[in-house]
Amino acid sequence: MIKSRRLHSETIAASHGVATDPTFGAIAPPLYLSTTYAFSGFGQAGPYDYGRAGNPTRDLLSEALAKLEGGAGAVVTSSGMAAIDLVLGQLSGDDLIVAPHDCYGGTMRLLKARAQRRHFQLDFVDQTDLDAVAQACKRHPALVFIETPSNPLMRVVDITALCQMAHAVGAKVAVDNTFLSPACQRPITLGADYVVHSTTKFLNGHSDVIGGAIIAADGADVTALKQWCNIIGTAGSPFDAWLTLRGLRSLFARTAQQQATAMTLATFLAQHPAVAKVHYPGLPTDCGHLLADLQQSGFGAMLSFELSGGEQAVRHFVSNISVLTLAESLGGVESLIAHPATMTHADMGEEARQAAGIGNNLLRMSVGLEHCEDLLADLEQALQGSTQNSIPLCRYEELARAENARKTER
Ligand SMILES: *Cc1c(COP(=O)(O)O)cnc(C)c1O
Repeated sequence: MIKSRRLHSETIAASHGVATDPTFGAIAPPLYLSTTYAFSGFGQAGPYDYGRAGNPTRDLLSEALAKLEGGAGAVVTSSGMAAIDLVLGQLSGDDLIVAPHDCYGGTMRLLKARAQRRHFQLDFVDQTDLDAVAQACKRHPALVFIETPSNPLMRVVDITALCQMAHAVGAKVAVDNTFLSPACQRPITLGADYVVHSTTKFLNGHSDVIGGAIIAADGADVTALKQWCNIIGTAGSPFDAWLTLRGLRSLFARTAQQQATAMTLATFLAQHPAVAKVHYPGLPTDCGHLLADLQQSGFGAMLSFELSGGEQAVRHFVSNISVLTLAESLGGVESLIAHPATMTHADMGEEARQAAGIGNNLLRMSVGLEHCEDLLADLEQALQGSTQNSIPLCRYEELARAENARKTER
């Protein structure tokens, strides 16, 4: 007798739903765009009735993601923010959420906006400080929201420790796993109740879909999330699910390549005289290295670094990159550079940025699939003489446009 055995994650990503089409035996799963489904008779609905509540293409993606994260099920949403909002929708006015003080800007904005409307209470803490988390847990939160590694400083949070502390006071734990994906970290195996994703990033991986997903460890939570998603109507579109499933096929191969390149680039940057500091948990000298090594199965393809020449060096650097592109977002096959202070974290305000350690000399990099030597060469030439230029900081848009023009010329 063949023993049933869990398939490797690489196999699930590459093959979930492949060759399951009962009509024509299509290898690639069909895309079902229909919004509604015929009843087979009076009072006899089939497995699907209406597209907001359920769709076969979307379900293939949620099944694949639930398996990859080791959850009981998943809900695929129209964006990462919609996925996070589904968890928040499970709370009520007196419930307290403990969230990281340096979480993704969009998450911070959503949490604050809902707390202001008294949808729940809110407490921000530095989650790398376990004493601060213990203090916050004394207030009996209903939910502890974790993001690790953090954006953009790549600070690593101890998921197992926080889950133990949260569960001891009856709180549930949600982990935003966008920066790593299940190819590098599986929070449910570390005790988390929910995993949320912006599938826009590594899971789709091709910078052409805005989407999200939430995976729950417990079946009852999956049911509640599905119901809430149907009530508020934030399910992802079938076409987006189809594209994301296609992107997911190569997640593990992309991740292996991208994180190997990230390690090489981080090592190069760490010894470069124009670079003051590199934040990449893969470096043995990084303060999050040991913890990342323990709870992650890979160090991922995101890193950030500080230029010793300050703002001026940043201006020189971003106007000289040519393989790299100056843009927000991450997780795609193309390498991107972002300047958090004027781009992703501009809304935070100077003071809050200072407090969080996000200086004007900090650059964030999402490492793609280009040849490592081309990326190294681009970094090297852009860093060269990075203290001799003086374009005003407010001209980033112009720089981005000039950069695009240069690329079209090539
Ligand atoms: C991008 C991102 C989100 C938001 O996802 P969208 O798909 O843009 O709505 C949430 N969390 C993290 C860590 C992200 O990087």
